[in-house]
Amino acid sequence: MPQFSQAISKLKASSTVVFNTRAQEMKRQGIDVVAMTAGEPDFQPPDHVLEAARDAVDQGLTKYTPAEGTFELREAVCGKFARENNLQYTPEQIIVGTGGKQILYNGFMAVLNPGDEVIIIAPYWVTYPAQIELAGGVPVPVSAPPETGFIPDIDDIRSAITARTRAIVLNSPANPTGAVYPPEVVISIAELVNEHDLWLFADDLYEHLIYDGKFTAAASYARERTLIIHGASKAYALTGWRIGYGAGPIDLIKAMNRLQGQSTSGANSIAQYAVTVALNEFDKTRAFIDMTLEAYRERRNLLVSGLNRMGLKTPNPRGAFYVMSDLTVIDPNENKAALRLLEDAHVGVVPGTDFLAPGHARFSYATSLDNVTEALERISRLLN
Ligand code: PLP
Repeated sequence: MPQFSQAISKLKASSTVVFNTRAQEMKRQGIDVVAMTAGEPDFQPPDHVLEAARDAVDQGLTKYTPAEGTFELREAVCGKFARENNLQYTPEQIIVGTGGKQILYNGFMAVLNPGDEVIIIAPYWVTYPAQIELAGGVPVPVSAPPETGFIPDIDDIRSAITARTRAIVLNSPANPTGAVYPPEVVISIAELVNEHDLWLFADDLYEHLIYDGKFTAAASYARERTLIIHGASKAYALTGWRIGYGAGPIDLIKAMNRLQGQSTSGANSIAQYAVTVALNEFDKTRAFIDMTLEAYRERRNLLVSGLNRMGLKTPNPRGAFYVMSDLTVIDPNENKAALRLLEDAHVGVVPGTDFLAPGHARFSYATSLDNVTEALERISRLLN
């Protein structure tokens, strides 16, 4: 067979997908697995957004859109930033893509040269190092330990900066830990970026999923150097619709647009029209978000207290829908521990190996309260 590229040969399948696939496979075999693996809301999207998608189909809004996204959606995104973050952008500073993931990818491709370093906070979302390497860069992890609630120490980030550093990735609320950084940490990271003339990739996908405290927009403190990565997947339960958006300095957005124009030609038209409505009729969308937040909060409280009671040390995260739990009472090796949870307790979690979280696993509570209760009972039976 002819050869594959070096870049693709190095690329690993995401462990989230691997464990999710195994959990689904067990389900198909009739084994009743409580899957706490997935990174997506278990809610249906809000009615007004579903309605808007139907309208778009009925109106025949099914053609190619501009590669950078429809003007209306980019305008609606500007409205979102002004309303919620007090950040003023023009539509030229907005790009719409196929999920936040693609915005991130366009961003790394636009700013990295071979050997450029990108600082990422560990435990990290596995996509960061994978995309950085695909773009020829070198991921440089800085550890945020469980004792701090997975909040990084700014001095550790500063020490990781070298002459090759090109960017820092900030993700708060974070996947996989649920950590929400205090404002002073976000501001200090923005200051570092300004001081060293770096890019700040602010992955704000989980902005709306905060249970205690408020969101801090890093872009407010490093406007000229920040690419905001955002989208409709998490807060509006629109994962499969694949709409993400980015905001940043105009030249960066233009560069990302050039790549997008030659790669995907832009995002799905129907979903773009529907997300425009989600942003423009925000009172209804906000009501939906509030409803889901209350449900997540109840599940988080139950899960965190239940796991800690059983000796699985778990910081109480303030955001997203994940907790990162120490599994060493089951097995010091997180892969073996996660496998025992799956095969013996029929509870699916994602081992921390690929997140750089040894001894730990990620539990997603984007699943019903009944499932959370059942998972805790099963783990308790496994331990007794
Ligand atoms: N950023 C983080 C931290 C995520 O967890 C995800 C999805 O899991 C994304 C970005 C991208 O989401 P999407 O491509 O669905 O918009």
